[in-house]
Amino acid sequence: MYDVCVTGGGAAGMMCAVTAAKKGLSVLLIEKNEKLGKKLFITGKGRCNFTNCCDPDVFFANVISNPKFLYSAFYDFSSYDCISFFEESGLRSKTERGGRVFPASDKSSDVIKVLEKELRRLGVCIRLNTEVKELILSGESGEKTCKGVVLQGNERVMARHTVIATGGISYPSTGSTGDGFRFAGQAGLEMTALRPGLVPLCTKEAFVKDMQGLSLKNAEVRFFKGKEGSLIHKDFGEMLFTHFGISGPVILSASSLIGEDIKDGNVLVEIDLKPALTYEQLDKRLVRELTEGGKKTFKNILKNLLPSSAVPVFISLTGCDPDKPCNEVSKKERHSLRNLLKCLSLTVTGPVGTDEAIITRGGVSVKEIDPSTMKAKKIKGLYFIGEVLDTDALTGGFNLQIAWSTAVKCGRNMT
Ligand SMILES: Cc1cc2nc3c(=O)[nH]c(=O)nc-3n(C[C@H](O)[C@H](O)[C@H](O)COP(=O)(O)OP(=O)(O)OC[C@H]3O[C@@H](n4cnc5c(N)ncnc54)[C@H](O)[C@@H]3O)c2cc1C
Repeated sequence: MYDVCVTGGGAAGMMCAVTAAKKGLSVLLIEKNEKLGKKLFITGKGRCNFTNCCDPDVFFANVISNPKFLYSAFYDFSSYDCISFFEESGLRSKTERGGRVFPASDKSSDVIKVLEKELRRLGVCIRLNTEVKELILSGESGEKTCKGVVLQGNERVMARHTVIATGGISYPSTGSTGDGFRFAGQAGLEMTALRPGLVPLCTKEAFVKDMQGLSLKNAEVRFFKGKEGSLIHKDFGEMLFTHFGISGPVILSASSLIGEDIKDGNVLVEIDLKPALTYEQLDKRLVRELTEGGKKTFKNILKNLLPSSAVPVFISLTGCDPDKPCNEVSKKERHSLRNLLKCLSLTVTGPVGTDEAIITRGGVSVKEIDPSTMKAKKIKGLYFIGEVLDTDALTGGFNLQIAWSTAVKCGRNMT
């Protein structure tokens, strides 16, 4: 019999176990993988952007689903508290562009090490390679109590408080296979539809494949929907071409912000590769390049205007002979190049699968959860934290902050 049994040794589960153990509670942390924090390890391209150094208004502006639900949790354990927690636990950090906070070592494994060290120091009992199969529930509906969990092999673990921190369904190889949603169903809790968030987009045009790996640092990206082509979203920043379509920060954010429109396809994307120049200014620049180019070939001049992997694609799209001398390029061909640089159009067919999404949107409905304790309102002794909940945010360290804040809120309020 434990005071607290936490299912899921990811970001939220480890932080909750640490917080509860600090209060002197006996804690068991159960993880089905052979090690803790498998998803945490791959975050931030292996560098782990573990929070965002920002004030509450910035944090809440970056939360897409149910920011109000997170008020209490975030004010209790803000980004600043998170940075202090890790610094005090021995992890030096650094803040980069846009407030993104990383370990100074650039190693996500250091974040995991610090949490593991705390778990050991506080005497948390850890069971690896152990899968929770179901909840132990007793009582009639309306007065149900969760008494613990059943493990593989039918072993029963009893606890006064049962915390579910099993994550979502994206990147299932990390262990996040949606088991927590099954547990919520067993407890009769309402769920909202699961869908991919912060996910790359597939496009119809085959030529993107020829530009795969090409990253544009300062592109303006516009999204249009439906027959009338009304503008539904616009952003500026970094994007990337892949073998199936487009990705990178601007695209991932759009996939969450306008996910409902994107999921049925029929969305047109326009990429402006020269957003700092108007059509007129760009035309003047092209005239200058082509005039100064003289007898140089069209393809050579394009290298001054575009990253090299984009040159063959633009040659093919303009239809201009690549070996034509610059001073023979016609006005029509020049305008075609200008229009493509200002407006490269792609048709989005939909997001790549949930498996490859950075985050799972949807989950246990926040209506079912008390935001001041993370306890299921209908069930005594049962709590949900982290990505299993219907909350999600944009990139920048905000999703991990949701995991930390909900975990601390839960751990601090258990007695
Ligand atoms: C590629 C990638 C990069 C990312 N980068 C960032 C980033 O830089 N910054 C950021 O803020 N967010 C990032 N995220 C999002 C972030 O990783 C998640 O928001 C966060 O990990 C959620 O934490 P969690 O503890 O709720 O769930 P998870 O980290 O998914 O942990 C859940 C754990 O529960 C275990 N589990 C599941 N079912 C059971 C069961 N039945 N029994 C026992 N154990 C079980 C799993 O094995 C897993 O270890 C990234 C996500 C991905 C996929």
